[in-house]
Amino acid sequence: ALKCGIVGLPNVGKSTLFNAISNNKAEAANFPFCTIEPNVGVITVPDERLHILEDLVNPQKVLPTTIEFVDIAGLVKGASKGEGLGNQFLANIREVDAIAHVVRCFNDDNIVHVDGKVDPLTDKEVIDIELQLKDLESIDKKISRIEKQAKSGDAKSKKDLAILQKYKQHLESGNNARTIDLDAEDKKSVADLQLLTAKPVIYVANVEETALPNGNEHSERLKEGVKDENAEVVVVSASIEAQIAELEDAEEREMFLSEYGLKESGLNKLIKAAYSILNLITYFTAGPTEVRAWTIRKGWKAPQAAGVIHTDFEKGFIRAEVIKLEDYQKYKTEVACKEAGKMAVEGKEYVVHDGDIMHFRFNV
Ligand code: GDP
Repeated sequence: ALKCGIVGLPNVGKSTLFNAISNNKAEAANFPFCTIEPNVGVITVPDERLHILEDLVNPQKVLPTTIEFVDIAGLVKGASKGEGLGNQFLANIREVDAIAHVVRCFNDDNIVHVDGKVDPLTDKEVIDIELQLKDLESIDKKISRIEKQAKSGDAKSKKDLAILQKYKQHLESGNNARTIDLDAEDKKSVADLQLLTAKPVIYVANVEETALPNGNEHSERLKEGVKDENAEVVVVSASIEAQIAELEDAEEREMFLSEYGLKESGLNKLIKAAYSILNLITYFTAGPTEVRAWTIRKGWKAPQAAGVIHTDFEKGFIRAEVIKLEDYQKYKTEVACKEAGKMAVEGKEYVVHDGDIMHFRFNV
């Protein structure tokens, strides 16, 4: 499953948010949550199209796609040097696909701030610097590893070295790797390092409940400060999320949300932001046993998309039969779609679209 790591300074609301995610009582059918480890939980992604397909196909079960949230606590000033539980947490971050960086934007004199005042940009920077230092470490290691080959004229090493030095400079100037101005091809030179600050980030501005739905002066400053980072900013109130999580009844929940001028929960916003920042799309498989959603990246071709179901599907890929959801809705069954010429037979080069209903043919 897709993994999203929750990071942030101590006392900013990470656990409150994580607990809200994992305690979600409401919409149990839409949000079944299971805790794998105390700090890891899986949540299903709500998708209206699954219900449409369910009505058409009447399957035995419906399986939504999932996102895993990991509460990465303990990231403090000095973590890159092993302070706190430093290195272990940084290793946890290396494994995630995206980072949800929770930033304290709420005013509350009763909650001590580690630095004594609410300042979202300084807070964000403290975390950034730790991650940047860790990235610099990885970069320096690789530089010393390939320097010799580069000097002896190896073309690939020479090119990699030049790019690594660009990253080094970029990071040393206090920037995150994700903001570097290089093309995708050049970025491949550091792909093996899984740089922490290259990971897509969602800033979660945790505001007080009275600042909903639009946020406050702190969240505005945060938005302004990260606008060049190609990041998403989501305004939530962790304490409100905790209360929403307690509501079982959908109607009650709706009312509660509207009292705060909210159209959806912060959790929903977070899931959407993760999809968008990671360039994710969903395709479906639909049959009498199950209707199921699968997450892939925009641009993936049919065999790679099949690979998320099973590696054999990718290896033995022959062709894919593809129906668009609108056609399924119009003609009601797979057979009727086929007869109407609305079931396309696609080969290896087919780029899967969001909402495609796929049926893979493969050799075993
Ligand atoms: P963590 O250290 O980042 O995991 O932070 P916690 O989730 O433990 O929160 C630290 C403290 O801030 C707790 O006492 C929370 O109740 C409080 N807190 C978290 N979110 C909010 C919020 O949105 N508003 C207010 N007023 N307090 C909050």
